[in-house]
Order: sequence, then C-alpha cells, then structure tokens
Amino acid sequence: RSVATQICTSQVIISAAGAVRQLLDNAMDAKAKNIEVNTLNFGIDSIRVSDDGTGIEERNFDSLCKRHATSKITEYDDLLALSTLGFRGEALNALCALGSVTITTRTADKDVATRLHFDHSGVIEKREAVPMEMGTTVEVRSLFTTLPVRRKEFERSAKRDFHKVVGVVQEFALATPSVRFNVYSELATVGRRYHALSTPGGDASLSQVITELFGGSEAKNEVIEIHSDETTMEGGGLEEGQVDEETVKEAREMRLDGFVSSPLHDNGRTSSERQFVYVNGRPVDYPKVCRAVNEIYQVHNRRQYPTLVLKITMPAEWVDVNVTPDKRLVFCQKERALLYSIRSTITAAFKPYEN
Ligand code: ADP
Repeated sequence: RSVATQICTSQVIISAAGAVRQLLDNAMDAKAKNIEVNTLNFGIDSIRVSDDGTGIEERNFDSLCKRHATSKITEYDDLLALSTLGFRGEALNALCALGSVTITTRTADKDVATRLHFDHSGVIEKREAVPMEMGTTVEVRSLFTTLPVRRKEFERSAKRDFHKVVGVVQEFALATPSVRFNVYSELATVGRRYHALSTPGGDASLSQVITELFGGSEAKNEVIEIHSDETTMEGGGLEEGQVDEETVKEAREMRLDGFVSSPLHDNGRTSSERQFVYVNGRPVDYPKVCRAVNEIYQVHNRRQYPTLVLKITMPAEWVDVNVTPDKRLVFCQKERALLYSIRSTITAAFKPYEN
C-alpha cells in the first residue's frame, strides 16, 4: 500500500473538536504565534481557525485540498520517524468533503490575501483577493451537511459537546505556552460573542497558562510543579526489590515535567477533564499514566481527580503511536520504567504535604 492510502484510511473527522484539532495542527506547523478559533452556534454554522503563520504559497493552491496533498511525508519510514510528531494528511480534503471550506491566506511576499472557495471534492470554485495580514484562515461552514444523519446528530450534540472544542484548544495551549490562543463562541440567536478561552502567549510560562485556563482556583499553590530528577528516582512508591536496575536505568533516561494538584487541595472534581498528557511534545491519551497519578492523589484526597499537565520526554524509539489520529493512543515500550518514574516523581512532590 502507498503511504497515501495508509494515511487516508486513518483520517477521520467525526466531531467539531476533531475538525478544530486538525486545523490547529496545521496552524502550529505554519509556526503561528497567535491562533484564534471562532465558532458560530457551537460550530454548527461555522468553525473558523485563524493564524498568523507563514501562509500558503500560491503554487500550492490547486493541490491544497486534493487528496494526498500532504507535503510532509514522503516515505513510509518517515511515518515511523514522525511517530513522535504525529502525522495527518488529507485533513483539508476531508473537511471539504464534509462541509463548505474557504481558505484565506497570505504569505510574507504578498500585499494582499487570496480567498479560495472549495467544492466538496477539494477543487477551487472561486478565487478572490481580500485584505488580510500574513497568515491563514480556514473556515468550515455547515460541517457534516453532506452526511445528513451525522449532521442531525451534530446539531443535537454540538452545544453539549462544545467543551470538547475548548478542551482541544486547552491541550494545544498547554503544550505551547509561547503561542497565544483565543476562542470565541458566537450565538446567532442572541447576537452575543463569548470569549471562551484566552492565553497570553509570548514568554508566558506553563504555570501562567494553567492559571489563565483554569482560573484563580488553580493558582495560589493549588497546583504544584513536578520535575523528575535523579534524586527522586528512588522508591517509586515500591518496596525495595520490586524494581530492577534496568527499569531504574530506563526511568532515568526519561524526563517528566509539569503540574499536578496539590494533595491538600480539595478540587471536588469527579472527572478527568483537566488531565493532559504529552509524549515528546504530542498530546496523547494515556489512561494508564493518568491512573497512576490518580492513585497517588486519591490516597491523599479521597476520590477526586487532580489537575494534571504532564510532559513526558523519552527516546523516540521507545514510543509506538497507534495510527489513529483521533484516538491518539500511544504505547510506551518501557512502560514499567515510565510508571516507575511517574510514581517516584509524584510521590516525591507530595512528600512535603504528608501529615
Ligand atoms: P497535512 O497537514 O497533513 O499536510 P492538510 O490537508 O491538513 O494535510 O494540509 C495540506 C497542506 O496545506 C499542508 O501540508 C500545508 O502545506 C498546507 N496548510 C494547511 N493549513 C495551513 C496553514 N494554516 N498555514 C500554512 N499552510 C497550511
């Protein structure tokens, strides 16, 4: 099978949040420093992502939304190498098939932006010059209208699921504090525009982003900073003899950085919605990792879920990424060492709070 079909079979957009994730990935790849997400009626009528990145070169316009337009992967081997960065391909083509897409873009060498209107097969229907700063805006109107059953379900669930759109943006914002994110939600019926999320960007620290996103309640020492280091790599919540030398050695080749709720803080949260795990810079779903942290936290704090922002760094060859971008499941070949490292680091961070 070609690389293109391997990618294409894994490419699915099943929700507004999924569409936003693809568009944010592209904006990040274009080295944007400011990214704005605008939704109209929770995304039912429009989802618009604007960035101030490099823009798209005119010579790429025609192929942009065609199938297999990705410029990022050429060989199957690259897919494996890309396992830490993730890969997509065909997101724009998929969005064209699902709704009405317009892309407005301007590169540094142009005085004016070009707006491209695409049909459902990804062919440019209309092209016009419009004023805009450097960067790219992708708008998807009427998402899923080409799939009537899914559209009906989307119209029913969009409001209830809007927090997932915000969650996706939170995930990117926590991964990259230097990028400024804003989310605006507009409701046509009431004619109001809500500012649903904002981060400072620039030289903001991860801790400032956490405060912005989760409010003052997470400030004031209610989350504590965690870093793995050699000295905490002892015990790991295990009895002596339960962990072998090899595991400890591997654990020392991993780095953990981030924040977790202080064990003294009663956050009352009964779900894991504020838990974000990254492996080598990519956001992932890693239930075992969250469970390991929850277990330590819950010993201290009954049945609540800690806020968790955990950035894991390890050699790329230790990570297998399940090739479904929407699921984002990963498997770490050195999972024992990873869980050991997590237990050691969190247990050490909680120590000062004991008794
Ligand atoms: P992929 O991102 O995997 O290449 P996409 O269909 O999402 O596939 O995008 C196709 C191409 O369009 C990208 O490779 C990139 O060159 C270009 N592109 C898409 N969005 C942007 C953006 N926001 N800024 C600059 N270039 C973009």
